[in-house]
Amino acid sequence: MRLSIALFTLLLTTQSLVIPAIAQQDPIVAAIIKEANDNSQLKRMSHELMDGVGPRLVGSTKMMQASDWAIAQYQQYGISARRENYGTWRGWDRGITHVDMISPWTKSLEATQLAFSPSTKKAVKGETIILADVADSTAFQQWLPNVKGKFVLIAMPQPTGRPDYNWKEFATKASMDKMLQERKEQTEAWRKRISKTGYNNRTLAAALEKAGAAGIIGSNWSQGFGVNKIFDAYTKKIPTIDVMLEDYGLLYRLTESGAAPIISVLAKSKELGEVPTFNTLGEMKGTEKSNEYVMLSAHFDSWDGGTGATDNGTGTMVMMEAMRILKKVYPNPKRTILVGHWGSEEQGLNGSRAFVEDHPEVVNNLQALFNQDNGTGRIINLGGSGFAKAKDYVGRWLAAVPGEYKDSLKTSFPGAPGGGGSDHASFVAVGAPAFSLGALNWSYFNYTWHTNRDTYDKIVFDDLRNNALLVAMMVYMACEDPEKLPRDKAVIQGNATDRNGQPIRNWPQQVKAIRLGPID
Ligand SMILES: [Zn+2]
Repeated sequence: MRLSIALFTLLLTTQSLVIPAIAQQDPIVAAIIKEANDNSQLKRMSHELMDGVGPRLVGSTKMMQASDWAIAQYQQYGISARRENYGTWRGWDRGITHVDMISPWTKSLEATQLAFSPSTKKAVKGETIILADVADSTAFQQWLPNVKGKFVLIAMPQPTGRPDYNWKEFATKASMDKMLQERKEQTEAWRKRISKTGYNNRTLAAALEKAGAAGIIGSNWSQGFGVNKIFDAYTKKIPTIDVMLEDYGLLYRLTESGAAPIISVLAKSKELGEVPTFNTLGEMKGTEKSNEYVMLSAHFDSWDGGTGATDNGTGTMVMMEAMRILKKVYPNPKRTILVGHWGSEEQGLNGSRAFVEDHPEVVNNLQALFNQDNGTGRIINLGGSGFAKAKDYVGRWLAAVPGEYKDSLKTSFPGAPGGGGSDHASFVAVGAPAFSLGALNWSYFNYTWHTNRDTYDKIVFDDLRNNALLVAMMVYMACEDPEKLPRDKAVIQGNATDRNGQPIRNWPQQVKAIRLGPID
């Protein structure tokens, strides 16, 4: 008896030692951390989306498959989800690209058909020709017939395939300076070469096509080892191909020296006609203020040179994981929680702009929206988007986040309104409080953003886990706040700049969504 009393006392003492620590941390916040760490679904979901489905080009079958996959995931988590069409787009599915140099020697080239590029029925063989350096547009018209049946090399050959950081590490200062100077001069000369044709990058491809070229060969180096950016084509009948820096340089030099290389190009893709374009939404109804909204946001579409892993697979994963955690530990939110996985961000924020136009009931009653769209890194920047009172509210929500999850987070209040870099801007433009969660860059702009190397292996899962629990906590706090975030606009600071360093002087204007993609 005495012993058990002693034990009891001991237990009580231990308890009372533990209680202050527990009391400090909100039990929901503690549960978010536990769920994010003990039961993360990030790797499984990333594998299923990036490896299993693949890239998510607007208008592609994969984009639809990805939406089906996300809806099924949400249903599995007990969250209601739906697809919402807002327009149509040109449907196009990528096939294989196979480009070989067959003369003067044989080599399979690392090459990718650009998105929406016309296909070839079978392998097309032809000589390569370099876009001529002509005096003016008249001379260019005289030269044009030379491209008939040939593949035209329209990109400047890079003087070096080594990124600048590699030169900085190993070159003498004199040779680095020389390389930079030469590259600058070559880049300027190539710009002039294009402009002297009388066309721009877009119309030049069409002119070459009209003159009977077999195809257009470009190379959009992303200034790192092994990375090219893969965008869309401007031709209507002949294929437009990106050839990686190394192989492009090879073709260019052989063409220039008179070796007359011949390549064989097989580019399979399928035109699908006009197909629906859509957003994918998930929702947890609010229990007290169901007509007020807290939103999670990340665009779902991608370019398709890689699998869109960091643009914006990672933002997508963060929001899906945050939703899963919230459903588990905070199933009855005070306000309605809505997640937007936007379509066609890459063509101009079209999905989120359409949502803003179509859902005034959400936009007018938006407590806050959190968008993430710059890669896999830990969230290190959070600004007030130019809302005068954001600091009081967002700052208060952030105070609930334990220190270790916001150690490297820098805040800037009131900050400047986002001008169009990503989907939060669609909301900010109509005065609705939407915030961008800026991630650490992990060489995003050169190595993954819109490149052929934006793949699963670039994902940093520890950073993603951190981001998912940070988002879950911010959404939870925003739902619980007894007050609604006021929309007063702060005076824009004189030195405010957007993420491209351009000055911001006025509140951004609303831009209409493109609801009909480019169909011939
Ligand atoms: Zn993006």
